[in-house]
Amino acid sequence: MKFWFITGSQFLYGEETLRQAESGSREVVRYLSGQLPFELEYKDTVKTEGGARELIKNANYDDDCAGIVVWCHTFSPSKMWIAALSSLQKPYLHLHTQINKAIPNKAIDMDYMNLHQSAHGDREHGFIAGRLGVAREIVAGYYKDESVVKSIENWQRAAIGAAFSRSLKVARFGDNMREVAVTEGDKVEAQLKLGWQVNTYGVGGLVEEINAVADSEVQAKMAEYRGLYIFNTDDIKTVEYQAREEIAIKKILDQEGCKAFTNSFEDLYGMKQLPGLASQDLMRQGYGYGGEGDWKVSALTAIAKAVSGEPSSFMEDYTYDYDAGLILGSHMLEVCPTIAADKPRIEVHPLGIGGKEPPARLSFSGKAGKATCTCLIDMGAHFRLICADAECVEPINSYPNLPVARTMWRPEPDLNTGAAAWIRAGGAHHTVLSYGVSADIWRIFARIMGVEFVHINKTTDLYRLEKELELGDLLWTLKR
Ligand code: MN
Repeated sequence: MKFWFITGSQFLYGEETLRQAESGSREVVRYLSGQLPFELEYKDTVKTEGGARELIKNANYDDDCAGIVVWCHTFSPSKMWIAALSSLQKPYLHLHTQINKAIPNKAIDMDYMNLHQSAHGDREHGFIAGRLGVAREIVAGYYKDESVVKSIENWQRAAIGAAFSRSLKVARFGDNMREVAVTEGDKVEAQLKLGWQVNTYGVGGLVEEINAVADSEVQAKMAEYRGLYIFNTDDIKTVEYQAREEIAIKKILDQEGCKAFTNSFEDLYGMKQLPGLASQDLMRQGYGYGGEGDWKVSALTAIAKAVSGEPSSFMEDYTYDYDAGLILGSHMLEVCPTIAADKPRIEVHPLGIGGKEPPARLSFSGKAGKATCTCLIDMGAHFRLICADAECVEPINSYPNLPVARTMWRPEPDLNTGAAAWIRAGGAHHTVLSYGVSADIWRIFARIMGVEFVHINKTTDLYRLEKELELGDLLWTLKR
């Protein structure tokens, strides 16, 4: 997908100024294209109401257009943008910049002023977007500044996430875990707001698919496992069954066009093992996953993987080390091996719940680095995306009897405040842990999709957060 760059102007200044506005725009686009992860293409300079309307209509209909960037190099009277911006359906970035970093002492005259007047041209443009209430990201500053480029990149990634989200299909193998509240939610509202098509597929059909997998397919998958992982087990038959499950799940997902899935240990009728290694290896390939039927976190995990090539995983806050101020995150089995600091080991251990055979799983330690933990909860009147900044560390002990993948992090601003803030906001126990999707990207994504965003970070104050949430509840209820 690519992004359209649109320049705002008018006929008032004559052909020469318009020509220079276009060449200046092309220069900005050329520079930014060399810095950004996704293509930016100069489309046109808007001079009339009809021109603006036509361009935005085309952007809406072009499946390859992931969003528009608008910059008013000169003054572009904003009444001519009303119809265009009112109809806009794509993510929108208002870039407020200038071709020159400094004002040239001798070269400045009224011609120069007419050409380089984004300082007020962009204010006129910003007013109409504000008046119309159009969701937009605003990036201000010299276009070659690193922070400006980074902000545009974050918006691009969020916009790519939005496009992915709007066509995302999630397959549910079995329902949510009995009695659990936070994994529930309004699937119609999720499709309306986020585009997610969340549908159920019978476990019986999956079992038929598992049993139909050819031995040759299993052996090919086993060879792949040998290349990727350390076999820390002699129980090859058990590992082969996971290979069989992975192949069957992937077949159904690909056939249905699903990029995310869920299952539940309470709903495995006819399956010998809870998919462990199978789900982990599918996450490695970019599929979203949610345990206990958690389709919201499954979708978020898939989005995180589409937004950034950096590691992301389904995660669960499990237990605390108060001495170290750390959370140990893990799951029954299903942690994505992309976050591993060491080479993952395939192991077979009994599972205390579910009443199935001991499943094969990948065990490893998560790597150090800055990350975010994010969840989506259904507040009834609206969805709330909660994102917490985290400092991941290498696990401080070897925990030799822990039979699952594990990772540790220090939540911002500290364990006690971070945990209290998360609980205050109603945050889920399931999250997507991502090293590449920053809070800024999640924030922009939330704005594009029209869901509430709550950020827990190093400046979080519990009292202020409580007030923010109260106002948020009011605001989002009114919006509805
Ligand atoms: Mn869980």
